[in-house]
Amino acid sequence: MLFRNKCTACDFWTIFELKTEGDKSFQVCTHCMDQNEVANDGQMETRIRDGEKDVKALEGHFPVLAQLKNRGDHVKF
Ligand SMILES: [Zn+2]
Repeated sequence: MLFRNKCTACDFWTIFELKTEGDKSFQVCTHCMDQNEVANDGQMETRIRDGEKDVKALEGHFPVLAQLKNRGDHVKF
């Protein structure tokens, strides 16, 4: 599952991937490959969808966010 967020490691807005390994889940920045463990409580996909609504709203102010589509895409504004 891919989603947009700001990476605290590389400081870019990028595409993240949600990965699950065994009973652990990670969000991975597809630009710098920074990896953070996230709560694997079954709610992560809901949180990602809610987060995507926030990013969608931000697009109104920062249209460059709409360019984030594929792994490795990254923007700064
Ligand atoms: Zn990053």
